[in-house]
Amino acid sequence: MLAADFLHLEKDVKTVNDNADLFHLDIMDGVFVPNISYGFPVVEAIAGAAEKPMDVHLMIVHPEKYIERFARLGVSMLSFHLNATDKPAQALLHIRETGMKSGLVINPDMPVESLYPYLHLCDYIILMSVYAGFGGQKFIEETFDRIRTLKAEIDRQGLDVKIEIDGGVCPANARQLIDAGAEILVAGSAVFKSEDPAEVIASLRG
Ligand code: ZN
Repeated sequence: MLAADFLHLEKDVKTVNDNADLFHLDIMDGVFVPNISYGFPVVEAIAGAAEKPMDVHLMIVHPEKYIERFARLGVSMLSFHLNATDKPAQALLHIRETGMKSGLVINPDMPVESLYPYLHLCDYIILMSVYAGFGGQKFIEETFDRIRTLKAEIDRQGLDVKIEIDGGVCPANARQLIDAGAEILVAGSAVFKSEDPAEVIASLRG
């Protein structure tokens, strides 16, 4: 929703309700990432109109402070960056205790191996395919190999952890991402900056 038109949010919420599976909300605090996106009032407004589950991606320091608050807003999936807290295991457990699905996120320059000790505490992993914090960046090609490496480790540990890809996803790379092992694709600019968002979502589904 970072790429949505905030003066006409209702229209973009309807696009997601009618065509997509999830609302992906990027929360930025201006500290963990240089940008500030939007806060609780906007999440609450979307929650009131969302007919699909909300997938909230925290790009903030001290994500553990806000877990209860997002749970109360009816969020289904809550993720934070591995390097945003010194107690990731505790935060993941806390997210699960509230009934939400727990996710960890890493930027393209962090090795996927850094996730391995926490995989059993995660329902999903978000691999950033651009650097977190700004919309509209170009997709990083190494993402395909990172998906395959992570997927092999998830299978080796016998876990059910979904891989979500966030950044630069478009109809040209969607099929290849799914083939590599991704199960959830986040698209912002490709959808909302297009003339026909419904058609773009349909072509992302392949
Ligand atoms: Zn995101």
